[in-house]
Amino acid sequence: MIYLKTDEEIELMRAANQLVGKTLAEIAKHIVPGVNTLQLDKIAEEFIRDNGAVPAFLGYNGFPNTITTSVNEQVVHSIPSAKVILKEGDIVSVDCGTILNGFVGDSAYTFCVGEVNADTKALLKATKESLYEGIRHAIEGRRLGDISYAVQTYCESRGYSVVRELVGHGIGRKMHEEPEVPNYGRPGCGPLLRNGMCICIEPMINRGSKNVVFERDGWTVRTKDRKCSAHYEHCIAIRPEGPQILSSFEFLEEVLGNNAI
Ligand code: MG
Ligand code: MG
Repeated sequence: MIYLKTDEEIELMRAANQLVGKTLAEIAKHIVPGVNTLQLDKIAEEFIRDNGAVPAFLGYNGFPNTITTSVNEQVVHSIPSAKVILKEGDIVSVDCGTILNGFVGDSAYTFCVGEVNADTKALLKATKESLYEGIRHAIEGRRLGDISYAVQTYCESRGYSVVRELVGHGIGRKMHEEPEVPNYGRPGCGPLLRNGMCICIEPMINRGSKNVVFERDGWTVRTKDRKCSAHYEHCIAIRPEGPQILSSFEFLEEVLGNNAI
């Protein structure tokens, strides 16, 4: 069942998602060579709680932390650790969720650690652009497959591949609601996009093949060929006047300045 949100509920969704955006900005300040991913997790948890919210990932299906921190060939869901020390040239995908006033926010961004090579930067840029390409097709009266197809064709036409095993999702009082939002699909197919639908669009795009491996820690997903992978996620609402982005990269991009992708 797809829950359509009222205007009031969408404003609550926006508040939860804006807090995720601000949390990602706090994290952005500390992404430098030498920091470990558990330090980033602690910063995120403290910031979320200081703002009167609860980390949405902590305890979700038993997940032990506030954020996921997936480095280089890791696609998503990696557990923060004091042993994972970021180094110059790495990329790290940070996914973060909050629960505020009963509603969930969920957004992700792939950061560069210091100076990153041009090929990797190109992957990040294309993945982020594919997210906005998907959002552009999130129009009331059209079909969910239009979003999926837009993301897929944008990435594949540039030589990148789309992870199949993981998808975006509806969101609201729960982090994962119907419908699933794949990053691949056929235009004109899938659920009708209706006013009040809130969904997370989150391209997970690989430099090499689309194949992934689920690591034995029970969480980490990495590319099979160990080439790098990028992940950007926005939470959006379908509205009569067009798609509304409820999350925000503006806060973190202000921190990154000219280094933003
Ligand atoms: Mg997420
Ligand atoms: Mg999500």
